[in-house]
Amino acid sequence: MRSIAIFGATGSIGVNTLDLIGRAPQEYQVAVLTGGRNIALLAEQAKTHRAALAVTADESRYDELKDLLSGTGTEVAAGAEAIRDAAQRPNDWTMSAIVGAAGLVPSLTTVARGGALALANKESLVCAGPLLMKTAESSGAEILPVDSEHSAIFQCLGGHTSETVERVTITASGGAFRDWPMDKLASASVAEASTHPNFAMGQRITIDSATMFNKAMEIIEAKEFFGFEADQIDVVIQREQIIHALVTFNDGAMMAHLGAPDMRHAIGFALHWPERRFLPVERVDLVKLGQLTFAAPDPARYPALALADEVMKTGGLSGAVFNAAKEIALDHFIAGKIGFTDMARVVAATLSACSRESGYGTAADSLEKVLQMNHFARVTATELIARHQI
Ligand code: NAD
Ligand code: MG
Repeated sequence: MRSIAIFGATGSIGVNTLDLIGRAPQEYQVAVLTGGRNIALLAEQAKTHRAALAVTADESRYDELKDLLSGTGTEVAAGAEAIRDAAQRPNDWTMSAIVGAAGLVPSLTTVARGGALALANKESLVCAGPLLMKTAESSGAEILPVDSEHSAIFQCLGGHTSETVERVTITASGGAFRDWPMDKLASASVAEASTHPNFAMGQRITIDSATMFNKAMEIIEAKEFFGFEADQIDVVIQREQIIHALVTFNDGAMMAHLGAPDMRHAIGFALHWPERRFLPVERVDLVKLGQLTFAAPDPARYPALALADEVMKTGGLSGAVFNAAKEIALDHFIAGKIGFTDMARVVAATLSACSRESGYGTAADSLEKVLQMNHFARVTATELIARHQI
């Protein structure tokens, strides 16, 4: 039996991971499940999968979780410290699927103790890519990408190193507003931005798809994870989202990864790796599909992409600032305090303000530095919005 920990079990990735694990319960022992405010779901998951430990990030909900799990034998804990402690427990396979910078500590803690980490939390690599990769190198931890594009690149590489690669093409759906007239974007509502043309995902990543901040994060993620140069990575709109990524090798061969838009593919690939096993995902019918279309993203519609380029060129702690500003901008958009197109302005203004801070250009090589810059950028972004300086 393999012991499994899932950080962010109650989210979209977590639920899909448990769906796969629940299909072969005799093979897995669920050691850790963590969640946020959805206590009822966390308790239900812990019961169904007989989890050894259930942790809620929300300390004020400890008693509620404890009551729901009384008599089940599941240990209960709460708070950010408890999440860090849970990541320290040795396990065979850990899924990092908390959303946002809060996922960094469990990712890093898991990697430091040297287990296999299935990484859905792209923020870990955007904020602290060099730190995470260096820690994995010294502990011998194995990081398996779960973001579908990065899983696709990993599969296209097929064991070849990044040095044999000329270009990488990451595909994008174009998000909810890909066909909207530009002048309507500023007034787009939260509900409108929370629908995705192809994928069912958490609300935050769905809105990030509409702005392409998600794709912007993924370019940075690809650079950090595989070690590609910024100018080797392209983004192409592939409306059908059947191709998830393409790799062009130095001999001109181009490998593409095709599959139905279902996160259980990338999750299952990481769960079974290095084997390939049956997965309950739809098979692509090429004839039914008829055609696959490609288009370049319009930089005016998706300013997030140019901001990601800036971050890749600057390096240092700019990734942590980029992510923090994006999280604050997204919080304010969801709360109805800023408009859809303001989000990119918040990130640009925060990058510019934080670039004057000492330490901004220094390497993201310690957790303290990254968390400090993350905090500073969050405060800066919040102030810029409050003072209408965006
Ligand atoms: P989600 O919003 O559906 O779930 C997030 C999970 O994190 C929940 O369990 C929630 O309770 C928990 N959480 C939220 N804030 C927390 C905090 N401060 N501390 C501890 N736990 C907290 O998100 P999701 O769509 O499942 O995405 C999870 C991660 O995977 C994100 O980093 C996202 O970018 C990445 N990802 C998601 C998809 C997808 O299809 N959903 C695809 C690729 C990558
Ligand atoms: Mg993705």
